[in-house]
Amino acid sequence: GSVPLNDIPVWTPTAGSSEPSRYQRNDKLDQKISLYSGDITKLEIDAIVNAANKTLLGGGGVDGAIHRAAGPLLKKECASLHGCETGEAKITCGYGLPAKYVIHTVGPIAQGGVGEEERKALRLCYKNSLKTATENAARSVAFPCISTGIYGYPPEQAVHEALATVREYLDAHHDKLDRVIFCVFLPTDKELYLQNLPLYFPAG
Ligand code: ADP
Repeated sequence: GSVPLNDIPVWTPTAGSSEPSRYQRNDKLDQKISLYSGDITKLEIDAIVNAANKTLLGGGGVDGAIHRAAGPLLKKECASLHGCETGEAKITCGYGLPAKYVIHTVGPIAQGGVGEEERKALRLCYKNSLKTATENAARSVAFPCISTGIYGYPPEQAVHEALATVREYLDAHHDKLDRVIFCVFLPTDKELYLQNLPLYFPAG
């Protein structure tokens, strides 16, 4: 079955992290972050983000799972969008998914290593996805770990770009979003997020 927003626990900041936090506490962000382990296609929320490729015509990994669960109408709408550039985001309906919308973003390919260009592009994916969500009045949004699968971005670097960009966007637009969910699929990613969330969303 699908997982409604109310069944997705809010992540609460914990004091006493081993590393100093990189941001101050912002109490307006309390109750707005979740870490969810599992299949993003099950989430019954306003929008899920797809780590797509430039064609938007479907692929492997999370993209394949989203297209399988949404059904063929998703591909049809995607085909009308004329692709998507790296770092940009485009929105479609969710069709057979429990989520109302899918926000398709294209992460950088980092198999040749991560430089400033890849880092900026990954940040743009998170920022433009949130911007697209708020422009469409989507108030709950889930992200997969963009670029860290087939696209080869090191997960231990990607987590910082993901958390910093979401933190910065929420600082400016907390009134427009109820929940941002980091949807992790691998136990190693869950560990990375548990370790690093307190640096960006500190308790005290
Ligand atoms: P990319 O091409 O951007 O690297 P991938 O789909 O290969 O995208 O991988 C991105 C992340 O999505 C990986 O961490 C992978 O484990 C994860 N993933 C794969 N399937 C799902 C799913 N059904 N729900 C959530 N995350 C998923």
